[in-house]
Amino acid sequence: MTATNHALTGAVIAATVVNPALGLTLAFLSHFALDALPHFGAHTVASVKSKEFRYILTTDGIVLTAFLVIVGFAGYKVGYDWWLLPLGGLLAAIPDIMWLSHYKADLSGADKEWDIIRKFHKTIQQWERSWGWIVEMVWFVVFTIILNRILFS
Ligand SMILES: [Zn+2]
Repeated sequence: MTATNHALTGAVIAATVVNPALGLTLAFLSHFALDALPHFGAHTVASVKSKEFRYILTTDGIVLTAFLVIVGFAGYKVGYDWWLLPLGGLLAAIPDIMWLSHYKADLSGADKEWDIIRKFHKTIQQWERSWGWIVEMVWFVVFTIILNRILFS
């Protein structure tokens, strides 16, 4: 799943669950639930060493960052602590940080480290597909509408 959709979902969970500690924990765990759904993976459309691959990740990172800033302001405006929704978003997206060392290994040709958490994370992502961008678009629209309703109605 894109980092943007992970963060959007995490922000919705953080905004919905009354107990912040529970909400943030569920936001983090949502990462693995979303990864088990059919979704887009950049490596399904571009070689990991290509600039297209880098562009996809960079675009996702830029949209993610913009979203976290905007959702912080929007949440604060309607009475949430300024950090709650961005933190929910960040925690939901952060497990993919574990792939950074694999990305570097792909670029350098070094061996990849496969601990039990990475193996689990990879296994649940078996439905990464090139057509997953359709799922991502629908998810983005639906969760943007949900977040908008939670915050502004
Ligand atoms: Zn993941």
